[in-house]
Amino acid sequence: MEESDLPEELKRTEIDILKCMQCGVCSGSCPSGRHMNFNIRKIVKKASSNEIEVLNDKDLWMCTTCYTCQERCPRGIKIVDGIYEIRTIAVRKGIMLPEHRKVSHLLLDTGHAVPINNETKQKREHLGLDSLPETVHKHPDALDDIKKLLKSCKFDELVS
Ligand code: SF4
Ligand code: SF4
Repeated sequence: MEESDLPEELKRTEIDILKCMQCGVCSGSCPSGRHMNFNIRKIVKKASSNEIEVLNDKDLWMCTTCYTCQERCPRGIKIVDGIYEIRTIAVRKGIMLPEHRKVSHLLLDTGHAVPINNETKQKREHLGLDSLPETVHKHPDALDDIKKLLKSCKFDELVS
């Protein structure tokens, strides 16, 4: 995006947030909003008003993508798909939460976003599973392939 124009950028992906009438059905339906100070309607409003600071709004990352709001929006706006798009734009500009960056680096370094620990190994065994999943944990040689894949899609540059 040369010039930041969020409504236009989203419209290109068939997400017309300008149709929003600020009815609040989305925020009223949002399970995350019940547990924290998070209001999806305000995010939609900022994006539809092309308030670029929405890219730096921590609330952008608080949505769990459960899709309840999208199913209930009376204007049929693809709210969650819009959240994904706005997050993508933010990450391309180097904006992401420190926690997400940390997890991304774990993936780059170990091939796993969540490294395994003894507790998890024991739980797996208790369920009758092998203590290690069929991933890099069991096949450390595959780490080089994972690193190549992540590099080929420039994931390393995105999160650096
Ligand atoms: S439910 Fe749809 S129309 Fe209503 S505020 Fe949310 S996004 Fe806008
Ligand atoms: S998809 Fe996100 S914003 Fe929508 S209801 Fe679920 S948590 Fe809330």
